[in-house]
Amino acid sequence: MNISVEGLSMTYKGGTTALAGVDLEIGSGMFGLLGPNGAGKTTLMRILVTLMKPTGGSVRVNDLDLQKNRREIRSMLGYLPQEFRFFSKLTTWEFLDYVTRLAGLKEAKKRTKAVGEMLEQVGLYDVRDRLANKLSGGMKRRLGIAQALIGEPKIIVVDEPTTGLDPEERIRFRNLLADMGQKDIAIILSTHIVGDISSTCHNMALLDRGRVVFRGSPDGLIEKARGRAWKIRALDSELEEIKTTFPVISTVPADDGWEVHVVADDTGRWPGEEVEPDLEHAYVYFMENQPEN
Ligand code: ADP
Repeated sequence: MNISVEGLSMTYKGGTTALAGVDLEIGSGMFGLLGPNGAGKTTLMRILVTLMKPTGGSVRVNDLDLQKNRREIRSMLGYLPQEFRFFSKLTTWEFLDYVTRLAGLKEAKKRTKAVGEMLEQVGLYDVRDRLANKLSGGMKRRLGIAQALIGEPKIIVVDEPTTGLDPEERIRFRNLLADMGQKDIAIILSTHIVGDISSTCHNMALLDRGRVVFRGSPDGLIEKARGRAWKIRALDSELEEIKTTFPVISTVPADDGWEVHVVADDTGRWPGEEVEPDLEHAYVYFMENQPEN
């Protein structure tokens, strides 16, 4: 599987430029698209799943062109949008059965098998008779993934997968996606939550104001913050000044004040102890050091 995005741009009516020339190569496995709110992630996802036409540039999926071969590409796609709504009267089973029928599986026996297996796979078989609308947030996301997977897609696009989930559900959902990523399919995960990327994706891109500002592996991004992640011991009286001087990652109470984790080229007049950077450090450092415009 190979998705090749070239010079993709999107300017909305009214003049907002959401994408300003995006180039990306996406292969099989999990690909993370990370960026702050407003970076253009949803716009890019919506173009990739053919819900919207770009104002410039091109997307190729293997040998197919997104503009010219929309129908073929659509049949390869599974999409889980940010907000997924279920019909109020359908149970979990009925909903998935309905989607499966839409996907073209007409024969009842085969459908029963497919729906049952899929519900097992996403861990929802035991709640199959519950109204889909009444499932917990995490279960709804998993049912969303089930509907995206049912047509055996080659590309799965997931927008902000863990927003609003509690930590346990978040981990469960990430693991489910990671399992999918073992197969020969491309999973594109868009998120503003660094943790969604670090634990699951081998490849990633960082989007900022419609531009790709980093592409590579999460480890490659972390390397950019090496020697720039610090721990500063601060007294109560110093805390505010430190917070206005550096991008702060975390503030932890210590014996005689605070231990503040910051990212910076140096810590100025505060003695800083270098720490091992993680993706959160790297993301914050990178975003802080983007030119204003
Ligand atoms: P993200 O998903 O990273 O938060 P979006 O793609 O939603 O980013 O938005 C990128 C930019 O495009 C933002 O400035 C947003 O306000 C603008 N935008 C998004 N959708 C529309 C729309 N339908 N019409 C006009 N502007 C839009």
